Amino acid sequence: MPESFEVLNTHVRRGPFRAVLFDFDGTLSLIREGWPRVMVGMMLDILRDLKLAEEPDEELWGLVERFVMALNGHPTVVQMARFAAEVTARGGTPADPRVYSEGYLERLMTVVRQRWDVLESGRVGPEAWVVPNAHAVLRNLLGRGVPLFLASGTDLEAVRYEGDLLKVLPVFGEHVYAPVAGDPSFSKGHVADMILSTLGIRGEELLGFGDGVVETQEVKRVGGVMVGVASAEPGQTGVNADKRTRLTAAGADLIVPDYGGQEELLAWLWGEGR
Ligand SMILES: [Mg+2]
Repeated sequence: MPESFEVLNTHVRRGPFRAVLFDFDGTLSLIREGWPRVMVGMMLDILRDLKLAEEPDEELWGLVERFVMALNGHPTVVQMARFAAEVTARGGTPADPRVYSEGYLERLMTVVRQRWDVLESGRVGPEAWVVPNAHAVLRNLLGRGVPLFLASGTDLEAVRYEGDLLKVLPVFGEHVYAPVAGDPSFSKGHVADMILSTLGIRGEELLGFGDGVVETQEVKRVGGVMVGVASAEPGQTGVNADKRTRLTAAGADLIVPDYGGQEELLAWLWGEGR
C-alpha cells in the first residue's frame, strides 16, 4: 500500500488523466488559511449583537461552522446568504448578504495583508505560504503534458494577485477561473463541465485536487477522480482531521495531507508500475 496518501475508494480509476482541476485556497495557497475562524467569528458577533442567540459559545460556534464549511468552495456571498437566512430564522432582520461579505472581507484582509507584506518584501519565499510541495506537484503534472485548470470561489483579482506572489499561476496559463467582483453565479460545476466540453474528454479522465466539499462533489458528479487535500495550517504537518471527515463525506477518492508524496501519488494515479 502507498504510504504518502490514503486510498478511500479501492475501485478508483487509475489514469492516465487528460485534465486536472485545482482549487486555490487551502489546496495550493495558504495565504487565506484561518479564514473560517474569521468568518464564523464575525457571524457570532452579529448574532450576539442582535441578541438572536442564547446557546453557549461553543455550541453556537459549531452550528455556524457547520453551515459555513458545508458551503466551502462557493462564492463568499453564498455563505453570507445562508447566514442571512439564519438571522431571519431566529427572528431578526438580516442585512444584505453583500454587506456581510464586505464586513467579512474587511476582517480577513487585515490578516491577509500582513501575509502579502512578507511575501512582497521577500522576507519569506513563496514556499512558506503554499501547501508543502505544491510547486513540485504542478511541475510533475505539467511534465506529463496534461492541461491544468484552476477554479476558486475567491475573487479573480485576489486569486491572480496571490497566485503571482506564490508563483503558482504560470502552469495554468489562461485557465484561471474565479468570480469577478463577487459574482454569485460563478460555479465550480460550470468549470468542470466546461473542461469536459472544450477538451472533448470523458468525466473519468478528469482529476481534481481540492480541500473543499464543493469541488469534491462537482468532480465526482462528472465522474472524475478526486484527491482530497486535508491540508494543515502553515507550519503544521499531517492530515487535518476535520477536513478529512468532510472530504470523505463529499466523496473524495484519496486523501493527502500535502504534496510531500506527490511523486508516488502521481505514479500511482497514472497506473505506473501497478
Ligand atoms: Mg479551498
